[in-house]
Order: sequence, then C-alpha cells, then structure tokens
Amino acid sequence: MVNIFGKTLEELTELLTEWGLPKFRGKQLADWMYKKSVTDFNEMQNLPKSMREKLATECVIDRAARVDQLDSADGRTSKFLLNFSDGVGVETVLMRQPYGNSICVSSQAGCNMGCAFCASTLHGMVRDLTAGEMLAQTYYINDMLSKSGEKVDTIVIMGSGEPLTNYDNVLKYIRLLHEDYCLGMSYRSVTLSTSGIVPNIYRLAQEEIPVNLSISLHAPENSLRSELMPINRKYPMADVVKAGGYYGEKTHRRVTYEYILIDGVNDNAKQAKELVELLKGQLASVNLIPINPVVERNWNRPSPERIEFFEKYLAKHHITVTVRREMGNDIQAACGQLRNRHLDNG
Ligand code: SAH
Repeated sequence: MVNIFGKTLEELTELLTEWGLPKFRGKQLADWMYKKSVTDFNEMQNLPKSMREKLATECVIDRAARVDQLDSADGRTSKFLLNFSDGVGVETVLMRQPYGNSICVSSQAGCNMGCAFCASTLHGMVRDLTAGEMLAQTYYINDMLSKSGEKVDTIVIMGSGEPLTNYDNVLKYIRLLHEDYCLGMSYRSVTLSTSGIVPNIYRLAQEEIPVNLSISLHAPENSLRSELMPINRKYPMADVVKAGGYYGEKTHRRVTYEYILIDGVNDNAKQAKELVELLKGQLASVNLIPINPVVERNWNRPSPERIEFFEKYLAKHHITVTVRREMGNDIQAACGQLRNRHLDNG
C-alpha cells in the first residue's frame, strides 16, 4: 500500500497517469484529500468507480490518530499525542492566541540534539517524520477547528525534533502548506525553529520561501552554550549568529533568537550585556522564555524581577524583546513531556 497523504499534486498526477488516467484526475484527488479532508476513497464521488477501487486496493490516506489529549484549565491550550500507522507518536500543541489559532508541530519523533534543558531529547531520536506526517498533525487540528468554523492560522515548527536535520521533509511540508490545492497558507504565517544547523540556515535562505526563522540561542557565550546545547561544539555560536544575520538580510524577515531563562545559569547582568553585544546591529529580536521546569533536571525559572530586569536591559539597549506568554504550564507543554509519560508507562 502506498500512502498518498503528503504527495504533491505533481506526484499524484504522475501516479495516476501511470495508471493510464487523465491528468485532471490528479487535481480531483488532491481536492478531496487536501481541500475536503476526505480519507475514504469511496466518498470521492466525482471519481469513476474503477479508479476508486484501484485507489482503495493500492493506496491509503494515512493520517494521525489521537492517543491522548490534555487541555489547560483556561481552555486556551490543548496538547495532543498523535500516533502514526507504525505506532510512533509525536506531540502537537494548539494555542488559541489573541491573533488566531497557532499550532506547534513536531518534525521528528524524539530528538538527538541532547539539549540539557529539553524533555524531547531524553529518549533519543526514533526517526524523522515525513512531510505527510507533519501535514497530518496540521490536518488533525484543522479538521477539529473547522467544526466550529475556525482554522489553523499560524504554524510554528517548534515541537520535538530538529527541523533542519530533516531538511527535505520539512521543506516539502512547508511548500505543501502554501499550495493552493492544500491549505494555501502564506509563508509568513510559518515559523521554523532551529538549534543552529549553520549550513542549512544558509540553504534555507536560498529557497525563496520567506518563513520566519527562530534560532535557539539560550546563552551569550560559547562555553555555556556548549554545555546547554552540545550542537554548539559543531556549529559555534558566532557562526550561528552570522548565519542568522544572513537569513535576515536575504529574506528581510526579522530573525528571532530564543533565550530560555534559567535561574542562576544564564540570567545575570553580565550575560545580558554579552547578549546585547552579540546581537547589536542585526535585524533580530529576542524571545525570552522562562524555563519550563523538566522533572528530570533541577533548573528553575528566575524570579519575576529577574525576568523583568533582563527584558528591560535588552530593551534599553535597543534590542526588540518579548517575554513568552505562559501557556499550558498545567498540561506539560514543555517539549516532549506528554510523550515521555507514555513511553515511561508503557
Ligand atoms: N530543535 C529546534 C526546535 C525544537 S525546540 C530548536 O532547538 O529550536 C523548540 C524550542 O523549545 C527551543 O527554543 C527550545 O530550546 C525550547 N525548549 C526546550 N525545552 C524547554 C524547556 N524546558 N523550557 C522552555 N523552553 C524549552
């Protein structure tokens, strides 16, 4: 059986023309699958019966099945554990923001970046996700929202995994999101977050798909960054920031640097100063993220005063800065925590 969910219109058309069918059948199939979100070939009424039967015997539209769901007390954040047909599960999060429905999509099952503060990496990486599996996460939530006349408005590829080490699948996914026959989303409503895979930041800048780029920085100097993020030994901070600068120049999109604030680790005045020095002059902004404590580590959030100090210091030195609004703390929204609970229990 061939899974056709995640195939482009060109790929669908190629498959059907190999069967001796006319080209326009590809468009019809794409319409049913992506526009109408139908998964049963029998419901595709404008396709000839013989074609539907052949599709049903040779192809499948593989989506994602919900295994678990947690809703925050305020009802604004929902986290889903979704399984694919091989039993591999990933987390996808829906955040109802004032500006629309934002979802956080995983690009890999697990992760092998080894960041010291992150729950997604604790069990290593199982495998890359395909474009269809990232799209299936998106459609799961979009279908749910469409029941109340809503849709997915913005997407952050910021769930578990490192998207830039799963480059081809992630790019295919982003292109599919944009296609008129699929969700027709603008590239500007998509954000990709990376731990700093330098060569692929340059590659992404050349693609002519102006998605927003977030770079996980988390420390203003190399030794601490290497301790928190082992990938820094391969792609040192200065090269990451240079690549970010290039991305900003090339795409005219403001690059966001994510900076988790950890009490007593990366939140002192000297570090705030170093961060300003590092980013001075770039078309960049900083998103401060008070750490979501992960049970496996003994790190905590700084006090509200400390967070405010850090924020004010950056702002005073002309760095655009935001503090991430807290959402879903009561539902283990820190990357990977829901999935880990299922792995540990079973
Ligand atoms: N690998 C990519 C995307 C996944 S991580 C990346 O590194 O950017 C997405 C974001 O969540 C990153 O900024 C990551 O550092 C952050 N994150 C991971 N664990 C966290 C935690 N315990 N608290 C707050 N943010 C966390």
